[in-house]
Amino acid sequence: MIHTNINHKQLLAMAYLFNLSTLFCFICSLAFLVIFLYSTYIFYIENEKKAALIALLISTLLPIPYFVAWYYNYNILALILFADIILTGLLFIYPFKTSDTICDETPLNKVDERDVMFSRNELEVGSENYKTYYKQHPEKKVLDDAFRREAGLGSEKAIFNHTLAFAAAHASFFTVGQFKKVVDGQVNPEKKKISSKDMGIFLKPWAKKLGALDVDFCKLKDYHWYSYKGRGNEYGDIINNPHSYAIAFTVEMTEGMVKAAPQSSIIMESAQQYLDSGRVAIQIAEFLRHLGYSARAHIDGNYQVICPLVARDAGLGEIGRMGLLMTPKQGPRVRVGVVTTDFPLETRDRKKLNYMLDFCLHCKKCAEVCPSKSISLEDPKMIDGVKRWQINSESCFTYWCKAGTDCGRCLATCPFSHPDNLLHNAIRFGIKYSPLFRRIAAPLDNLFYGRKPKPKKLPKWIR
Ligand code: SF4
Ligand code: SF4
Repeated sequence: MIHTNINHKQLLAMAYLFNLSTLFCFICSLAFLVIFLYSTYIFYIENEKKAALIALLISTLLPIPYFVAWYYNYNILALILFADIILTGLLFIYPFKTSDTICDETPLNKVDERDVMFSRNELEVGSENYKTYYKQHPEKKVLDDAFRREAGLGSEKAIFNHTLAFAAAHASFFTVGQFKKVVDGQVNPEKKKISSKDMGIFLKPWAKKLGALDVDFCKLKDYHWYSYKGRGNEYGDIINNPHSYAIAFTVEMTEGMVKAAPQSSIIMESAQQYLDSGRVAIQIAEFLRHLGYSARAHIDGNYQVICPLVARDAGLGEIGRMGLLMTPKQGPRVRVGVVTTDFPLETRDRKKLNYMLDFCLHCKKCAEVCPSKSISLEDPKMIDGVKRWQINSESCFTYWCKAGTDCGRCLATCPFSHPDNLLHNAIRFGIKYSPLFRRIAAPLDNLFYGRKPKPKKLPKWIR
């Protein structure tokens, strides 16, 4: 009697499980259909035809076994699919251990701005500064002769010469050049009393209203500052770290202009965003000086700090394989602006975004697409006592001088650069929280967008 009773309960439990799994299969078939139809739509509006086709195919095929299991009431099949989804889901949320020391945080030495490619490019051949620099750094002479032999940025003889686009880029660089005179200025002797909290409450939304995307503050450390000026009239001057705080912000580079990189739209967009970030920085610096606090804007061609490092330490992103700041939502498709000040801003400890570096370890897409092979395919290495990635800035810049643009293939193809929408944000969420998802997200990106995606066409109005 008891034996029959147990069997009856077991039968009930099994019936319940079968019902649950068939219902689950129905929900899954619908969910897969909706998710992949939505993805098809997103890829279509992104003009990614191949990706849209793949997503459409998946939206048709993937729901089939789930739908069949539900429709024909195939209990065993439903149970297998149910168990499979649960196990896969558990694997995705399992906190597999990932290294939290992929890259070292703190550079040991200050960088001399005179060693930066832009500074070396500005050295006039035969000038005193030119002679002195290459006397002190003979090993760099051969490397720099290589880029000097090429056509040059914005040159008519460059591969991607475009008369109108290059003129537009020139106009933006010219305008930001006019700002150089006002990066610094008179400080109002009448200092206004403002609390750090009130300043933060006002400054962050205001910076966004001016055009910034993300804004935050940090305390300045020695390694944020260049040791010597490398550009302009102050070439060779010692930088004395006059401020203790920084406001760092990003401005977004428009996706449509970036996707055609390394063609001419990229240099137009870079120049425009240098101008936009410069304008925002100039306004913020003047605002602080007007309130009685010393402040300096750091803008294109007139930096005293290494902006990506300041922005990283203000919590705006990480510096990954390609050596640029990558933010969680726009990836490297941003330009960075910085204002340094003596106003005591309210800062907090930055939360390291280790998942971005962990993704970089496996992704390598930028390294694969780089036309000059300037990005390492290897794991981070010890460079001057610091574990990190380092790009070959000489070969990168030499390619710029061939192309006539600032290339940007790496930032155009980085999976973090995809637009800020529900589909890509769901993927960013997976990358952030699931170590396993991080392993498959890069191959998935390759499946939909291609391992070495071709540059998109220039926007119609530039062609
Ligand atoms: S393309 Fe990949 S490896 Fe390169 S920076 Fe972006 S995420 Fe990192
Ligand atoms: S800008 Fe171009 S050449 Fe330079 S690292 Fe990126 S992809 Fe390579």
